[in-house]
Amino acid sequence: TPLAEKHEYQAEVNRLMDLIVHSLYSNKEVFLRELVSNASDALDKLRYLSVTDPELLKDGPELDIRIQTDKDNGIITITDSGIGMTKQELVDSLGTIASSGTAKFLKALKESQEAGMDSNLIGQFGVGFYSAFLVSDKVVVSTKSPKSDKQYVWEGEADSSSYTIREENDPGKLIPRGTRLTLYLKRDDKGFAHPERIQKLVKNYSQFVSFPIYTWQEKGFTKEIEVDEDPAEAKKEGDAETKTETKKKTKTVVEKYWDWELTNETQPIWLRNPREVSTEEYNDFYKKTFNEYLEPLASSHFTTEGEVEFRSILFVPATKKEDLTDRKTKNIRLYVKRVFISDDFDGELFPKYLSFVKGVVDSNDLPLNVSREILQESRIVRIMRKRLVRKAFDMILGISCSENRDDYERFWENYGKFLKLGVMEDKENHKRLAPLLRFFSSQSNDELISLDEYVENMKPEQKDIYYIAADSLSSAKNAPFLERLTEEEYEVLLLVDPMDEVAVQNLSSYKDKKFVDISKEDLDLGDKNEEREKEIKQEFSQTCDWIKNCLGDKVARVDISNRLRSSPCVLVAAKFGWSANMERLMRAQTM
Ligand code: ADP
Ligand code: MG
Repeated sequence: TPLAEKHEYQAEVNRLMDLIVHSLYSNKEVFLRELVSNASDALDKLRYLSVTDPELLKDGPELDIRIQTDKDNGIITITDSGIGMTKQELVDSLGTIASSGTAKFLKALKESQEAGMDSNLIGQFGVGFYSAFLVSDKVVVSTKSPKSDKQYVWEGEADSSSYTIREENDPGKLIPRGTRLTLYLKRDDKGFAHPERIQKLVKNYSQFVSFPIYTWQEKGFTKEIEVDEDPAEAKKEGDAETKTETKKKTKTVVEKYWDWELTNETQPIWLRNPREVSTEEYNDFYKKTFNEYLEPLASSHFTTEGEVEFRSILFVPATKKEDLTDRKTKNIRLYVKRVFISDDFDGELFPKYLSFVKGVVDSNDLPLNVSREILQESRIVRIMRKRLVRKAFDMILGISCSENRDDYERFWENYGKFLKLGVMEDKENHKRLAPLLRFFSSQSNDELISLDEYVENMKPEQKDIYYIAADSLSSAKNAPFLERLTEEEYEVLLLVDPMDEVAVQNLSSYKDKKFVDISKEDLDLGDKNEEREKEIKQEFSQTCDWIKNCLGDKVARVDISNRLRSSPCVLVAAKFGWSANMERLMRAQTM
């Protein structure tokens, strides 16, 4: 027997394995989803590479996944004809934490100390390959990469901090290419090795895998056979003495045999006619493809023809995305003529501020060997990008028009920051972005309003959109600048998010109405009584001089103004200078 090399797992893997084996009891069936998705990834990689290197398929053109069960011994084997792994790849992939999803899972688990969260988390993140140990005592991975002429066997057991790797020498176990996983199920989990159970799980979890998945099923057909008639029966019927030959009779029997059965639907959902796909199917596709547990807030399935041809389904997630700068989102899966190319090209297909949008894009016009460089220079991609962005805006607008106001509130809470970033980065789309923005207002009781709502509520003589920026809602509401406007029933937007003011300044106007900062000098409410003002200015000019003297360089000027009602004085910013809020922000940034 060939010597098996012993390897130690990376520390994080040990931690993960320990958790999987000892703490996660519910939702175990997700192991199948994880393993089938790995098989599908391996097939995707092979299909992609074989486009430029058809030799890779010389060991067999079929790209499929086969799942066989042995219910008596509690064994499941999952075989794919994908890219396989070299020995080094085995060590790198199945001894360390390869997937960032798994790392995120660990982080989330650490953050949620509550018991009972586990099953949710595992469904949400998946723990990749190691989920095999949710149900198995022992896992054997036998794999053959086209890059190597040897087949290697990885073997690991639950409750062990090491695994072994050896060469496959048993000729009966050689596979032409790809990977075969053998799961030796735990005593209590042997039920998963029932063919019908596996079939059901595949249907549930792998419906949207684009390679055929076959399961090994018992089949039967009925057959008429001729049997000898029972001699006793024949006798009863009389004249038995005269006949010597026995009578024949037909009988129906069920013949049993085992065979592979196609268990999933392989036509990609985006190729189907949108009219024939139900919302449930889109939601299901979304959840399964992107490992999401909440239904999307909106989806859009469309085809473009003519100049550039592509199909796409886009989704707005309901889950929050924290990091504005995270570019590695893997949210857009790019296909060329149905071949999966990459989920790394989000940045080429969408501007950063729409990076929360998830979906698939399948193009017939891009070359199969498309790279980031090609994408960046492609005229086709420029057109695609424009269409995709427009569709994304339509989707978001759809949420904002929904009868259910909560939906947009949820969206805004999750992604409002992104749209404000969009206002700063994408002038071309200001017309689409501005109606989607939401702000607090002096008249809306802590509810957010849209600019359209503001404009509708403007007084007949009002020309501008008033706003004030502050670091909190209460300080905005208590600002002396508001006194007169409130008294005269002008609505004022209260910009309390640091990005609000910058966004508003970038827009500069909405529907031909200028944004005006009420904390700046020369706010014109159009009711000057010049005579009276002149008198008062005269009367208090010495007081002003005196105050200016006392404050020295701290202020530029001390003036008489008509903008206050109950407060004696207020600090205003110069017309072309920074507002107090901006100063505060800039200071915070440089510190
Ligand atoms: P992820 O799939 O997110 O990368 P997994 O833990 O599921 O993380 O898998 C780890 C790695 O193991 C994969 O990235 C892949 O390189 C390798 N792998 C797992 N299963 C297979 C398979 N059936 N064929 C080829 N490689 C595989
Ligand atoms: Mg995986």
